[in-house]
Amino acid sequence: MSVVLVTGGSGLVGSAIRAYVEGPGAACASGETWVFLSSKDGDLKVRADCEAIFARHRPTHCIHLAAKVGGLFANMREKVEFYRENIMMNDNVMECCRLHGRDGKVAKLVSYLSTCIFPDKTSYPIDETMLHAGPPHPSNEGYAYAKRMVDTMNRAYTEEYGCNFTSIIPTNIYGPSDNFSIENGHVIPGLIHKCYIAKRDNTPFVIWGSGTPLRQFMYSSDLAELTVWVMREYHSPDPIIVSVDESAEVSIKDVALSVAKAMKFEGEVVFDSSKADGQFKKTAGNKKLRGLRPDFEFIGIEEGIQKAVDWFNANYETCRK
Ligand code: NDP
Repeated sequence: MSVVLVTGGSGLVGSAIRAYVEGPGAACASGETWVFLSSKDGDLKVRADCEAIFARHRPTHCIHLAAKVGGLFANMREKVEFYRENIMMNDNVMECCRLHGRDGKVAKLVSYLSTCIFPDKTSYPIDETMLHAGPPHPSNEGYAYAKRMVDTMNRAYTEEYGCNFTSIIPTNIYGPSDNFSIENGHVIPGLIHKCYIAKRDNTPFVIWGSGTPLRQFMYSSDLAELTVWVMREYHSPDPIIVSVDESAEVSIKDVALSVAKAMKFEGEVVFDSSKADGQFKKTAGNKKLRGLRPDFEFIGIEEGIQKAVDWFNANYETCRK
């Protein structure tokens, strides 16, 4: 019998994994029980809460998604909290996975890193070997160093205690249950919310920046499927970048126009070039993933945006925004 504990199970990625394992054509294997946690089940920063969760569920596997996440300004303002809260959560989850699994230690722990923790000055495409090859961008160094330590400790736990701990490095994710806040959310959910307001109020849809930067976006259900695959099939402490191909990189302008189309917005679309663009591109390579999953088909950006817009419209009153 397997018990898979998903921390951060109520967030963007957690709810996609839940839909994948419990939804139509459920990917939940026989004899597998999935437990999706939110912060209401306990504060993972607090060791006693974390131990109580492990004692209650006695997991055989753990997918660790819970994190303090935020936008650029929050990261710049609260470096101490981004560092400490993530370090505390990660340390408690890792130690509990070593000490309190159903059969002694848990058989597998999969944690989440992010491409935004890579060195600020690097060459592209980035790959898994470059994670520690220089300091991260100063704006998010608290978050970045806390996340980088997960990778360091995955190898240390494997060497010293024979644990099977690894990590996934995703590029930008979007989908249902995202944070659609215009100030604090990521690009796609922020644009969806802005376009919704522009349509409702009959005002222009204003996009910050020129729209020329390129990014890789992944629909959350694809990431959910690949996360479950990593848990079952990928057994190395070294991280794996989970991302759409380099050829699937799209401009912010194309994304904004897809949002407008999906929202059936027919008003004026304005690119406000007086606002900063950020880095032109941050291309991540997915050679390792493609070596193992050459035929995996990612949902195209237009189809994914249509699904995300439909979800937002249907859940406008209750979603995070
Ligand atoms: P969300 O912000 O959508 O969800 C965060 C989850 O963590 C929620 O379930 C939240 O619970 C839980 N949580 C936060 N703090 C605590 C705490 N102290 N104790 C217990 N639970 C807590 O995150 P995502 O799904 O977007 O992100 C999942 C992972 O992916 C994170 O590790 C993140 O760093 C990483 N990532 C995300 C990217 C993205 O584009 N979204 C990009 C790259 C990496 P509650 O709902 O109760 O608040």
